[in-house]
Amino acid sequence: MAHNLARKCYNLNVCDGDEVRTENLGTQKYGKEDVGRSKAIVTAEYSAKRTSLPVKTVGVPYMFSEAVKKGINLEANIVIAFTDSFLSRFEVSEYFYEEKPVVSAGLGESGTWGWAFIQKPEKACLRCCFPEVNPNKTAGCTGLTIDSVKLTSSLVTYAVDTLVLDHYYRERSWNYRKIDLSGFCACPDEKVKIKRSEECGLCGNFKE
Ligand SMILES: [Zn+2]
Repeated sequence: MAHNLARKCYNLNVCDGDEVRTENLGTQKYGKEDVGRSKAIVTAEYSAKRTSLPVKTVGVPYMFSEAVKKGINLEANIVIAFTDSFLSRFEVSEYFYEEKPVVSAGLGESGTWGWAFIQKPEKACLRCCFPEVNPNKTAGCTGLTIDSVKLTSSLVTYAVDTLVLDHYYRERSWNYRKIDLSGFCACPDEKVKIKRSEECGLCGNFKE
């Protein structure tokens, strides 16, 4: 990701209020030596090491809502909300709705599938993609296995690529995509292009 962003001279800010825990070691890219350290700081350090391009990576060791309250500079060209709750994803999508593209992503309850949604200013918002979701309900599954996390991360990397690069061969036909390893519930075509709902409190006033 840092590599892709660096090609456009974008910097990378990583916002996460969690610390690395032992149970994260199997499913997230941390080592034993990282246990107890801020995920945001460790991720920023790793990202900086993994690219030879001059991208500046900064770790913000707070949850998004805390960082906003503290007045931390969250300026960005592109925003990615790959969190484990709809509460935080909705917060991020609303905060940046009018200004920046937001790529939201998550994992399914079974641990075999993941999804990504791209919200652009004045287009359909994340709530229009998930009108039935109760944001206060915690996710049933948050990365039981690394396969679905990697799969979903590749969707996110591709989505960012299509926002950053202007290559016709990277053209994207979707703003919502679900990938399922089990093959039981592939993304139905009609959900690929999420439309703005006129009832929506966030994006309903804009014209497509
Ligand atoms: Zn909406």
